Amino acid sequence: MIHGHCDHALLPDGWHANVKLRADAAGRWVEVVADSPRADLPHLGRWVLPGMPNLHSHAFQRAMAGRAERYSRPDDSFWSWRETMYQHAGSMNPERLRIIARWLYTEMLEQGYTRVCEFHYVHHQADGRPYQPQTAMADALVAAADEVGIGLTLLPTLYQRGGFADQPLSPRQQRFHHDTEAFTRLCETLAAAHEGTGVRLGAAIHSLRAVGTPALTELLADDFWRSRPLHIHIAEQRQEVSDCLQRHGRRPIEFLFDTAAVDRRYCLIHATHALPHERALMANSGAVVGICTTTEANLGDGLFDLVDLRTRGGAWGIGSDSHIGLDPREELRWLEYQARLASGRRTVLANAGAADVAVNLWNEAVQGGSQAAGGGSGGLQVGADADWLVLDDQDAAFAGCTVDQLMGSWIFGPARQPVAAVGVRGREWVRSGRHRQHERFESEYRQLMQSAAGLA
Ligand SMILES: [Zn+2]
Repeated sequence: MIHGHCDHALLPDGWHANVKLRADAAGRWVEVVADSPRADLPHLGRWVLPGMPNLHSHAFQRAMAGRAERYSRPDDSFWSWRETMYQHAGSMNPERLRIIARWLYTEMLEQGYTRVCEFHYVHHQADGRPYQPQTAMADALVAAADEVGIGLTLLPTLYQRGGFADQPLSPRQQRFHHDTEAFTRLCETLAAAHEGTGVRLGAAIHSLRAVGTPALTELLADDFWRSRPLHIHIAEQRQEVSDCLQRHGRRPIEFLFDTAAVDRRYCLIHATHALPHERALMANSGAVVGICTTTEANLGDGLFDLVDLRTRGGAWGIGSDSHIGLDPREELRWLEYQARLASGRRTVLANAGAADVAVNLWNEAVQGGSQAAGGGSGGLQVGADADWLVLDDQDAAFAGCTVDQLMGSWIFGPARQPVAAVGVRGREWVRSGRHRQHERFESEYRQLMQSAAGLA
């Protein structure tokens, strides 16, 4: 377990010098002490940051990232992309999912994501029949995360219908389906098998379009969910908002707050189409807003008003979702850039009291992501998961940097592969920028993608 000393560390209240860091056997920080003498402790590095939770992932989509970028029809949108994605999902099985997820999680870890929330809805075989065991696909994700060392918050996902008017599932959606009782049993089985091993178990409600009010109410009444994370895709598409309005007379965020006691357990993914009063609801509830900047841009979803959410004191974090981007810096950089382009100003996500845009972005996303992942408070502080990364002080982008310029140089500057080391729950997994099993996991992924069986 990590026990060492660094020149500078980014704590929740900013940079501190001469920081001693120590984790216990459970992988939690037990000592984070600034202005501490090094004595004979190992030198961890010059600059240490907290690891970043990735609060939204569909691992199987990694294998199609960047492969749906050709014109297919004049109204190409999220909905036409979804058809391609369903076709791709049809080619998944547990063995393929394990190989894809293992490489994906390796890429994540090497870029500084230390925990991933896996919003998992491809449960069954392509024709809808359950695997034996029924948890085969979820088990593949758990095994992949375990081999890579990344923290996993597994979110089995409830998916029951094709739209707000109770439309039946299409043939391609059959493999996502559970009735509510079977879903609860699945979650209990997964909790019994995996909780306590570094895996956290939560649940996802795919969306209000895919889960009706009776099932939602039944699920949320179960004590099992009293203290576990609950995620939902909430308002990604304008059509979803208008369908909800038509069916329920309320917008999705309004409807969710009327139906459920939304609190700090919740993470609302893609709250893109939110009005000011809906952002106020989310901020006041303590729920985390999950922003997937590069995926939302790739799918043409719309712009989320983070400036307004922050003004209201709302919690937020980032997810790589479809994995069109796998670099947390890119997710964060474009949040600020969107706000700059919209406002005609610079340094929008900062103020006189918290002037460093990049520090604000990193630390706020760490806190929101940690909460959404079921870990409580995150970052470099006692009690939090001992997840960290060390920046490469040899990268030319950092030449001559003061510590106050470092995060800006990292997130907005031209650094190439600046993450030198990454550790999760007290153990180091990435050294000199490479995961210990990088070659093997990459080669198995490459073989899968090049195999005659191929992927749709
Ligand atoms: Zn998603």
